Amino acid sequence: MSYNQMLVQLELAQLAEQQGQAEIAIDRYQAALELARVLGYGLYRFRINVELALKYRDSGDVSSMAKHLQLADKLQYRETSTLYTSRFQLLKAQELLNKHKYAEMAVYVDPLLISLAKEKALLRSQIELLKVSAEGFAGLGNFKRAYEVLEQYQQRFAAYSSKELVSNLDRQQLLFNLERLEFENQDLNWNNVLQKLELETNRTTLNQLNIISSIILLLLLLATIIILWLNRSRLKWGLLAKTDSLTGLYNRRYLAGWLLYHQALEEQNQESQPKWRTLLARLKSLLLPAKVQRNHGPLALITLDIDSFKKVNDTHGHNNGDRVLIELAKVMKALLREDDLLARVGGEEFMLLLPNTGLNDAVTVAETLRQSVAEHIFTLENGEPLRLTVSQGVALDADGCQSFSQLADIADKLLYQAKQLGRNRVESELAQGSEASAV
Ligand code: GH3
Ligand code: MG
Ligand code: MG
Repeated sequence: MSYNQMLVQLELAQLAEQQGQAEIAIDRYQAALELARVLGYGLYRFRINVELALKYRDSGDVSSMAKHLQLADKLQYRETSTLYTSRFQLLKAQELLNKHKYAEMAVYVDPLLISLAKEKALLRSQIELLKVSAEGFAGLGNFKRAYEVLEQYQQRFAAYSSKELVSNLDRQQLLFNLERLEFENQDLNWNNVLQKLELETNRTTLNQLNIISSIILLLLLLATIIILWLNRSRLKWGLLAKTDSLTGLYNRRYLAGWLLYHQALEEQNQESQPKWRTLLARLKSLLLPAKVQRNHGPLALITLDIDSFKKVNDTHGHNNGDRVLIELAKVMKALLREDDLLARVGGEEFMLLLPNTGLNDAVTVAETLRQSVAEHIFTLENGEPLRLTVSQGVALDADGCQSFSQLADIADKLLYQAKQLGRNRVESELAQGSEASAV
């Protein structure tokens, strides 16, 4: 067994290779490897293993390729020739590609590709490394990079194949390989890569559209919330504008508006109505919401004032005064019909509008109120009881001719009379211009 014997085996292997006898070449290389192993030639063992791995790769025997690559891997440090190192690198990249370890392959080939880019001319295995790397990048989904590397491969290949030193046979083989690659590897076909790039762009556009539509939806939601909130506060302010904050009862402005509105409605219903008044009435009806329909009936207005209320404040304090006002509002409300409108029109003064009510009925209501208040026991903050009385003036608008202020004036005068006559009383008479039949 000698060094020469090993060289002979290698010669024979290369000869068989040139003649296209792949199996014989493999056998010779195996024999040479055995000799190199026995003789302890590490460098030769590396090269022969690389050759064998290449041969097995070409014949499609992936596991034998992996085996020899692994053997070469351990001896790699012994090699200094670019020819064999680049073959080894190609095989290593190929192995990672076979195992679909794309990310690992990208890490391995990236520095190699950078140094290859600087080279003027490349070896065949180095050009092949470009092809394998492009496939790896495509596997990784990095089509842009795959496309770039593939383009480099084609340029380098064109330069390599046109060189005279490449034999005709070699050139045919390479051209065939290139064609096969283009047909086989649809993913790396130029058009395909471009299509994938376009697809990716479309996907990005779609994502952007999704984001934009989400933002629009969010803005719409926000706008709806703001509108609802504004509407809520508008309603709140609307309510505040027509109610008294202490008792929650209506205020004087609301009662006056209410009467005006209903009078306008009645006028509108009369046939001889001039057009401008109808329009005015319609306008008012838009501004003032209706609570009750008067139906042309009589309407009574009661003015009510707490007797000697100053004393309550002076004796028990303003807080107790407020407390009594709130409680009185509740007592009165409980006695009224749903259609009646109760308002607080001054400090301890209230007004009551009774639609479709004649004078007698209105006086009865006022009497009931007077009696109920007089009998009610109010409670002070410290739990002490308190008694109160009220005086009232009742005015009547029998035919809808009185304005609110006219009616209020009459009711006020009658209230003043009630006070004069000793308080805790109800005073009434037919309002001016009203008819007795309305009572
Ligand atoms: P009269 O029987 O003549 O009506 O006597 P009065 O004391 O009830 O009438 P006067 O007009 O002299 O006094 C009304 C008092 O009502 C004066 C004020 O202290 C009290 N008052 C007015 N508004 C409020 C209020 O909002 N809260 C409280 N606690 N007291 C009020
Ligand atoms: Mg009073
Ligand atoms: Mg008063």
